[in-house]
Amino acid sequence: MKFLKVDKTASKGIVIGKVYLVQKTEFKVNTVSVTEDDVEKEIVRFEAAVTKVKEDLIPLAETNPIFGAHLEMVKDITLYDSITVKIKEDKYNAEYALETVTGEFIQMFESLEDEYMRERAADMKDIRDRLLSSLQGITSNPFEKIKEPVILVAEDLSPSDTAKLNLKYVLGFITRDGGVTSHVSIMAKGLGIPALVGATDILKEVKEDDTVILNAGSGEIIINPDSDTVNRYQNLKSEYDKRQMELTKQGHLPAVTKDGRKVSLCVNAGNVQDIKNALQYHIDGVGLFRSEFLYMENTHFPTEEEQFSVYKEAALLCSEELTIRTLDIGGDKSLSYYRFEKEENPFLGWRAIRISLELKDMFKDQLRAILRASAYGNIRIMFPMIISPEELRMAKEILKECQEELNNRNIPWNKQIEVGMMIETPASVILAEDFAKEVDFFSIGTNDLTQYILAVDRGNKKISRMYNSFHPSVIRSIARIIKAAHDNNIKAGMCGEFAGDEKAVLLLLGLGLDEFSMSAGEIPNIKNLLRNASYEEAVNLANNVCEKNTLNEIYEVLGIN
Ligand code: PEP
Ligand code: MG
Repeated sequence: MKFLKVDKTASKGIVIGKVYLVQKTEFKVNTVSVTEDDVEKEIVRFEAAVTKVKEDLIPLAETNPIFGAHLEMVKDITLYDSITVKIKEDKYNAEYALETVTGEFIQMFESLEDEYMRERAADMKDIRDRLLSSLQGITSNPFEKIKEPVILVAEDLSPSDTAKLNLKYVLGFITRDGGVTSHVSIMAKGLGIPALVGATDILKEVKEDDTVILNAGSGEIIINPDSDTVNRYQNLKSEYDKRQMELTKQGHLPAVTKDGRKVSLCVNAGNVQDIKNALQYHIDGVGLFRSEFLYMENTHFPTEEEQFSVYKEAALLCSEELTIRTLDIGGDKSLSYYRFEKEENPFLGWRAIRISLELKDMFKDQLRAILRASAYGNIRIMFPMIISPEELRMAKEILKECQEELNNRNIPWNKQIEVGMMIETPASVILAEDFAKEVDFFSIGTNDLTQYILAVDRGNKKISRMYNSFHPSVIRSIARIIKAAHDNNIKAGMCGEFAGDEKAVLLLLGLGLDEFSMSAGEIPNIKNLLRNASYEEAVNLANNVCEKNTLNEIYEVLGIN
């Protein structure tokens, strides 16, 4: 019996089963110089491969936006041109030209600091492999030997691999590579299959047909367990599955406490698919639509038209509330098509609203797109990283310009559109009273607020133990923000990760938080906790917590070990 611990949970759940090792298709790519006469032939072969891959992707794209993105990448003229130029001018065979050019893109993605963007390299590899399969006439399916339920173990799984899976036979999967924001992880979550990624040692430790217990929620992998361990995990699994069933059954019920306090339970989304996935939980809306993902997934700044169609689709899906945060790039989020100057302190640097206010035309494209989409649903606009009333007023002034432009062109938009701001900087906490008079809502971004209040980098592993949103200074800031909002008759929501933390939910309820916005997977559990809570007791608890000035005392009041 061997035990491994992994900290990258792609999708929670417990499963026990036999290992199926996924063998990667190896492509042999020879460098062949072609004669002038053969250049045309290679171009024709490459074009035929592109056409075939497009045909394969079109039906997949209809049901899964990840393949929609792949289709866009295959259609991308820069990629297409670079490969054909390599064939024509350098006189290489199509396979080699393809491998070299996609290799450059892969390297570029892998060198980016942002984890999400680094994982786009996997998408480029997936496209390269599809094109190579087509060029070499390979139609193999790495899963064809699976005849019984198994736990897949692989170096990595591309979205195309995942789409070929017969889900009847897949209990869960473990990959050596990949991160929690990779598309495979997103797909696992969507399919409800327990999965762990980034299990560095997994391929060294398991063999085909080993029995494995996978407890994805806690990151545990137990290889060839003894019978006592199997029994223990079978019991844990039954309890977990039963609880999930109960939570799912409550899905349609509102987030209201036993004594009648109703709060909004919303989802944080990075794209339209996240909203679709969350609809099953009967959400009250989207508390945070991270519009930067639309920019990060693109090869250029998305045009007004491109953005309009995405925001409109999202608004139609979610009529209750769709809070679109304007571009929050910079810090750890970069764009492959825009050169950011190197900064000593990127999180204290040129990011979010600071960029939008400077790149005014780009900002206006986004604002017009949001305004136009507001005619189709209850869209709210939210500005990130605001530190001063001047900045907020400047953003609102530009928004007004866009509204006037649309009026002049007789283009409809929602005249009652609400305009709010993230509270995620110490400056905005201190000025919360003043800001509350100038916006329609607040949304507390605890991810950044915690790092800025505590001066602890949210991404620095060495000090991650010090990054804690239960710190008394963060809790008192949250209390102050909510009070400032309520004193001025506006609502206070929270879209930082803290809103989905089960240990914080009663405290936040008691502090008077109006809206909790979180990743879809957290919603059933948080809803259940809220429905079993008493608001009156939560208020007493929150008052008690706010009197404490050490983390330990706060933990004690909240019963956290
Ligand atoms: C936050 O800072 O809490 C937040 C929601 O924004 P992001 O995590 O995208 O910076
Ligand atoms: Mg933030």
